[in-house]
Amino acid sequence: MRIRGEDLRRDGRVIVLVPTMGFLHDGHVSLLREGRRRGDILVVSIFVNPTQFGPNEDLARYPRDLAGDLDKARGAGVDYAFVPTVAAMYPRPALTRVHVAGLTDGMCGPRRPGHFDGVATVVAKLFHLVQPHVAIFGEKDYQQLGVIRRMVADLDMDVEVVGMPIVREADGLAMSSRNVYLSPDERRRALSLSRALGAAEAAFAAGERDAARLVASATGAIADGVRVDYIELRDAESLEAIEAVARPAVLAVAAFVGKTRLIDNRVLAPT
Ligand code: AMP
Repeated sequence: MRIRGEDLRRDGRVIVLVPTMGFLHDGHVSLLREGRRRGDILVVSIFVNPTQFGPNEDLARYPRDLAGDLDKARGAGVDYAFVPTVAAMYPRPALTRVHVAGLTDGMCGPRRPGHFDGVATVVAKLFHLVQPHVAIFGEKDYQQLGVIRRMVADLDMDVEVVGMPIVREADGLAMSSRNVYLSPDERRRALSLSRALGAAEAAFAAGERDAARLVASATGAIADGVRVDYIELRDAESLEAIEAVARPAVLAVAAFVGKTRLIDNRVLAPT
Protein backbone atom coordinates (compact mmCIF):
# COMPACT_ATOMS: atom_id res chain seq x y z
CA MET A 1 0.00 0.00 0.00
CA ARG A 2 2.78 2.43 0.85
CA ILE A 3 4.65 1.79 -2.38
CA ARG A 4 1.43 2.31 -4.33
CA GLY A 5 0.73 5.50 -2.39
CA GLU A 6 4.22 6.79 -3.11
CA ASP A 7 3.87 6.03 -6.83
CA LEU A 8 0.50 7.74 -7.04
CA ARG A 9 1.81 10.79 -5.22
CA ARG A 10 4.81 10.98 -7.53
CA ASP A 11 2.42 10.92 -10.49
CA GLY A 12 0.69 13.96 -9.03
CA ARG A 13 -2.52 12.18 -8.08
CA VAL A 14 -4.59 13.50 -5.19
CA ILE A 15 -5.21 10.58 -2.81
CA VAL A 16 -8.28 10.51 -0.59
CA LEU A 17 -8.62 8.02 2.28
CA VAL A 18 -11.82 6.98 4.03
CA PRO A 19 -10.87 4.86 7.07
CA THR A 20 -13.55 2.39 8.21
CA MET A 21 -14.05 -0.80 10.17
CA GLY A 22 -16.20 -2.23 7.36
CA PHE A 23 -19.79 -3.52 7.35
CA LEU A 24 -20.43 -0.48 5.22
CA HIS A 25 -23.74 1.41 5.28
CA ASP A 26 -25.01 4.62 3.70
CA GLY A 27 -23.11 6.73 6.26
CA HIS A 28 -19.85 5.27 5.00
CA VAL A 29 -21.05 5.64 1.41
CA SER A 30 -21.65 9.37 1.89
CA LEU A 31 -18.00 9.68 2.97
CA LEU A 32 -16.90 7.70 -0.08
CA ARG A 33 -18.95 9.89 -2.43
CA GLU A 34 -17.43 13.02 -0.96
CA GLY A 35 -14.02 11.39 -1.31
CA ARG A 36 -14.68 10.58 -4.95
CA ARG A 37 -15.44 14.28 -5.50
CA ARG A 38 -12.33 15.53 -3.72
CA GLY A 39 -9.52 13.57 -5.31
CA ASP A 40 -8.19 11.42 -8.12
CA ILE A 41 -7.59 8.21 -6.20
CA LEU A 42 -10.11 7.04 -3.63
CA VAL A 43 -8.94 4.55 -1.02
CA VAL A 44 -11.17 2.92 1.57
CA SER A 45 -9.48 1.11 4.41
CA ILE A 46 -11.37 -1.68 6.12
CA PHE A 47 -9.76 -2.73 9.36
CA VAL A 48 -11.40 -3.76 12.61
CA ASN A 49 -8.70 -2.32 14.83
CA PRO A 50 -8.28 -4.43 17.97
CA THR A 51 -6.42 -1.74 19.91
CA GLN A 52 -9.45 0.54 20.06
CA PHE A 53 -11.69 -2.07 21.71
CA GLY A 54 -11.83 -2.54 25.46
CA PRO A 55 -11.61 -6.03 27.03
CA ASN A 56 -15.39 -6.20 27.54
CA GLU A 57 -16.35 -4.73 24.19
CA ASP A 58 -17.53 -6.32 20.95
CA LEU A 59 -14.27 -6.94 19.03
CA ALA A 60 -14.90 -10.68 18.61
CA ARG A 61 -18.44 -10.27 17.30
CA TYR A 62 -18.01 -7.02 15.38
CA PRO A 63 -20.00 -7.53 12.12
CA ARG A 64 -18.02 -8.26 8.96
CA ASP A 65 -18.98 -8.64 5.30
CA LEU A 66 -15.99 -8.09 3.07
CA ALA A 67 -17.73 -9.18 -0.15
CA GLY A 68 -20.66 -6.83 0.49
CA ASP A 69 -18.26 -4.03 1.45
CA LEU A 70 -16.27 -4.41 -1.76
CA ASP A 71 -19.51 -4.25 -3.80
CA LYS A 72 -20.56 -1.04 -2.06
CA ALA A 73 -17.05 0.38 -2.41
CA ARG A 74 -17.03 -0.35 -6.15
CA GLY A 75 -20.47 1.22 -6.45
CA ALA A 76 -19.16 4.39 -4.81
CA GLY A 77 -16.19 4.58 -7.18
CA VAL A 78 -13.45 3.39 -4.84
CA ASP A 79 -10.11 2.70 -6.57
CA TYR A 80 -8.42 0.74 -3.80
CA ALA A 81 -9.69 -1.13 -0.78
CA PHE A 82 -6.89 -1.50 1.77
CA VAL A 83 -7.80 -4.47 3.95
CA PRO A 84 -4.78 -5.30 6.09
CA THR A 85 -4.64 -8.18 8.55
CA VAL A 86 -4.05 -7.57 12.24
CA ALA A 87 -0.64 -9.24 11.88
CA ALA A 88 0.29 -6.86 9.05
CA MET A 89 -0.72 -3.80 11.06
CA TYR A 90 0.82 -4.99 14.33
CA PRO A 91 3.76 -7.25 13.45
CA ARG A 92 5.29 -6.70 16.91
CA PRO A 93 3.94 -5.47 20.22
CA ALA A 94 3.89 -1.70 19.67
CA LEU A 95 5.76 0.42 22.19
CA THR A 96 4.53 3.63 20.59
CA ARG A 97 1.11 5.21 20.89
CA VAL A 98 -0.51 8.49 19.93
CA HIS A 99 -2.34 10.07 22.84
CA VAL A 100 -4.41 13.22 22.36
CA ALA A 101 -5.00 14.71 25.81
CA GLY A 102 -7.72 17.15 26.84
CA LEU A 103 -10.18 16.38 24.07
CA THR A 104 -10.44 12.86 25.46
CA ASP A 105 -11.10 13.86 29.09
CA GLY A 106 -14.90 13.66 28.75
CA MET A 107 -17.60 11.93 26.73
CA CYS A 108 -16.36 8.52 25.52
CA GLY A 109 -12.82 9.09 26.85
CA PRO A 110 -13.30 7.94 30.46
CA ARG A 111 -15.94 5.34 29.52
CA ARG A 112 -13.68 3.65 26.98
CA PRO A 113 -10.16 3.82 28.45
CA GLY A 114 -7.51 3.56 25.74
CA HIS A 115 -10.06 3.79 22.93
CA PHE A 116 -8.91 7.10 21.48
CA ASP A 117 -5.24 6.15 21.79
CA GLY A 118 -6.09 3.09 19.70
CA VAL A 119 -7.96 5.21 17.16
CA ALA A 120 -5.34 7.96 16.89
CA THR A 121 -2.52 5.44 16.61
CA VAL A 122 -4.16 3.35 13.90
CA VAL A 123 -5.18 6.44 11.93
CA ALA A 124 -1.60 7.74 12.12
CA LYS A 125 -0.42 4.36 10.81
CA LEU A 126 -3.02 4.38 8.02
CA PHE A 127 -1.92 7.89 7.03
CA HIS A 128 1.69 6.73 6.80
CA LEU A 129 0.74 3.66 4.78
CA VAL A 130 -1.75 5.20 2.36
CA GLN A 131 -0.23 8.71 2.27
CA PRO A 132 -3.50 10.49 1.56
CA HIS A 133 -3.76 14.20 0.82
CA VAL A 134 -7.31 14.18 2.19
CA ALA A 135 -8.98 11.96 4.81
CA ILE A 136 -12.72 11.90 5.42
CA PHE A 137 -14.45 11.13 8.73
CA GLY A 138 -18.06 11.28 9.95
CA GLU A 139 -19.42 13.66 12.56
CA LYS A 140 -21.26 10.63 13.97
CA ASP A 141 -18.03 10.02 15.88
CA TYR A 142 -17.75 13.66 16.87
CA GLN A 143 -15.06 13.27 19.52
CA GLN A 144 -13.02 11.03 17.23
CA LEU A 145 -13.10 13.69 14.52
CA GLY A 146 -11.82 16.28 17.00
CA VAL A 147 -9.06 13.93 18.14
CA ILE A 148 -7.93 13.27 14.57
CA ARG A 149 -7.97 16.96 13.65
CA ARG A 150 -5.87 17.78 16.70
CA MET A 151 -3.41 14.92 16.10
CA VAL A 152 -2.91 16.10 12.51
CA ALA A 153 -2.34 19.69 13.66
CA ASP A 154 -0.08 18.85 16.59
CA LEU A 155 2.06 16.37 14.66
CA ASP A 156 2.24 18.42 11.43
CA MET A 157 0.67 15.67 9.37
CA ASP A 158 0.16 16.79 5.79
CA VAL A 159 -3.43 15.60 5.53
CA GLU A 160 -6.58 17.66 5.07
CA VAL A 161 -9.22 16.29 7.45
CA VAL A 162 -12.82 16.58 6.22
CA GLY A 163 -15.85 15.99 8.47
CA MET A 164 -19.19 14.86 7.03
CA PRO A 165 -22.70 15.12 8.53
CA ILE A 166 -24.41 12.19 10.25
CA VAL A 167 -26.48 10.01 7.92
CA ARG A 168 -29.68 8.72 9.55
CA GLU A 169 -32.35 6.14 8.92
CA ALA A 170 -35.73 7.58 7.88
CA ASP A 171 -36.92 7.57 11.52
CA GLY A 172 -33.86 9.39 12.80
CA LEU A 173 -31.63 6.58 14.10
CA ALA A 174 -28.02 7.38 13.23
CA MET A 175 -26.66 4.72 10.90
CA SER A 176 -24.11 2.44 12.51
CA SER A 177 -22.61 -0.94 11.77
CA ARG A 178 -23.67 -1.86 15.31
CA ASN A 179 -27.38 -1.34 14.54
CA VAL A 180 -27.35 -4.89 13.18
CA TYR A 181 -27.09 -6.13 16.79
CA LEU A 182 -30.52 -4.67 17.67
CA SER A 183 -33.61 -6.88 18.05
CA PRO A 184 -36.84 -5.34 16.66
CA ASP A 185 -37.78 -4.20 20.14
CA GLU A 186 -34.32 -2.71 20.76
CA ARG A 187 -34.43 -1.07 17.36
CA ARG A 188 -37.54 0.84 18.51
CA ARG A 189 -35.97 1.83 21.79
CA ALA A 190 -32.79 2.94 20.00
CA LEU A 191 -34.78 5.91 18.74
CA SER A 192 -34.34 7.31 22.25
CA LEU A 193 -30.97 8.71 21.30
CA SER A 194 -32.07 10.88 18.38
CA ARG A 195 -35.29 11.77 20.23
CA ALA A 196 -33.27 12.93 23.23
CA LEU A 197 -31.18 15.16 21.01
CA GLY A 198 -34.33 16.44 19.33
CA ALA A 199 -35.90 17.28 22.69
CA ALA A 200 -32.84 19.26 23.75
CA GLU A 201 -32.72 20.98 20.38
CA ALA A 202 -36.36 22.02 20.74
CA ALA A 203 -35.62 23.46 24.19
CA PHE A 204 -32.60 25.23 22.75
CA ALA A 205 -34.70 26.65 19.89
CA ALA A 206 -37.16 27.92 22.50
CA GLY A 207 -34.34 29.86 24.14
CA GLU A 208 -32.95 27.48 26.78
CA ARG A 209 -29.19 28.01 27.16
CA ASP A 210 -28.50 26.37 30.53
CA ALA A 211 -26.44 23.21 30.08
CA ALA A 212 -27.97 21.24 32.96
CA ARG A 213 -31.51 22.00 31.78
CA LEU A 214 -30.68 21.11 28.18
CA VAL A 215 -29.17 17.81 29.33
CA ALA A 216 -32.24 17.19 31.51
CA SER A 217 -34.58 17.69 28.57
CA ALA A 218 -32.56 15.15 26.58
CA THR A 219 -32.53 12.68 29.48
CA GLY A 220 -36.31 12.99 29.79
CA ALA A 221 -36.77 11.60 26.28
CA ILE A 222 -34.88 8.35 26.96
CA ALA A 223 -37.16 5.29 26.91
CA ASP A 224 -37.34 2.68 29.66
CA GLY A 225 -34.86 -0.09 29.15
CA VAL A 226 -32.26 2.21 27.64
CA ARG A 227 -29.29 2.73 29.95
CA VAL A 228 -27.66 6.11 29.45
CA ASP A 229 -23.86 5.94 29.57
CA TYR A 230 -23.63 9.73 29.39
CA ILE A 231 -25.37 12.78 28.03
CA GLU A 232 -22.98 15.73 27.96
CA LEU A 233 -23.06 19.23 26.56
CA ARG A 234 -19.60 20.52 25.71
CA ASP A 235 -17.91 23.25 23.72
CA ALA A 236 -18.09 22.14 20.10
CA GLU A 237 -14.39 22.77 19.51
CA SER A 238 -12.46 22.29 22.76
CA LEU A 239 -14.93 19.68 24.09
CA GLU A 240 -14.60 21.34 27.49
CA ALA A 241 -17.59 21.16 29.83
CA ILE A 242 -19.78 24.27 29.73
CA GLU A 243 -22.48 25.66 32.01
CA ALA A 244 -24.37 27.56 29.34
CA VAL A 245 -24.35 27.74 25.56
CA ALA A 246 -22.76 30.99 24.40
CA ARG A 247 -20.97 29.56 21.36
CA PRO A 248 -21.47 26.36 19.35
CA ALA A 249 -21.79 23.37 21.65
CA VAL A 250 -22.14 19.66 21.06
CA LEU A 251 -24.73 17.61 22.85
CA ALA A 252 -23.45 14.05 22.84
CA VAL A 253 -25.19 10.91 24.02
CA ALA A 254 -24.03 7.33 24.52
CA ALA A 255 -26.47 4.69 25.69
CA PHE A 256 -26.80 0.93 25.98
CA VAL A 257 -29.82 -0.57 24.25
CA GLY A 258 -29.64 -4.13 25.50
CA LYS A 259 -25.95 -5.00 25.17
CA THR A 260 -25.43 -2.61 22.26
CA ARG A 261 -23.75 0.71 22.94
CA LEU A 262 -24.90 3.44 20.57
CA ILE A 263 -23.76 7.06 20.22
CA ASP A 264 -25.25 10.15 18.63
CA ASN A 265 -24.76 13.90 18.82
CA ARG A 266 -26.03 17.25 17.66
CA VAL A 267 -24.40 20.66 17.51
CA LEU A 268 -26.37 23.47 19.12
CA ALA A 269 -25.27 26.81 17.74
CA PRO A 270 -26.60 30.16 18.96
CA THR A 271 -27.44 32.49 16.08
P1 AMP B 1 -16.65 2.98 11.48
O1 AMP B 1 -16.62 1.97 10.37
O2 AMP B 1 -17.86 2.86 12.35
O3 AMP B 1 -15.36 3.07 12.22
O4 AMP B 1 -16.84 4.38 10.76
C1 AMP B 1 -15.97 4.80 9.75
C2 AMP B 1 -16.25 6.24 9.43
O5 AMP B 1 -17.60 6.40 9.01
C3 AMP B 1 -16.05 7.16 10.63
O6 AMP B 1 -15.43 8.36 10.21
C4 AMP B 1 -17.46 7.40 11.10
O7 AMP B 1 -17.64 8.61 11.78
C5 AMP B 1 -18.21 7.40 9.79
N1 AMP B 1 -19.62 7.10 10.02
C6 AMP B 1 -20.14 6.03 10.67
N2 AMP B 1 -21.48 6.12 10.74
C7 AMP B 1 -21.82 7.27 10.11
C8 AMP B 1 -23.07 7.95 9.86
N3 AMP B 1 -24.23 7.44 10.26
N4 AMP B 1 -23.02 9.12 9.20
C9 AMP B 1 -21.85 9.65 8.80
N5 AMP B 1 -20.65 9.08 9.00
C10 AMP B 1 -20.64 7.90 9.65
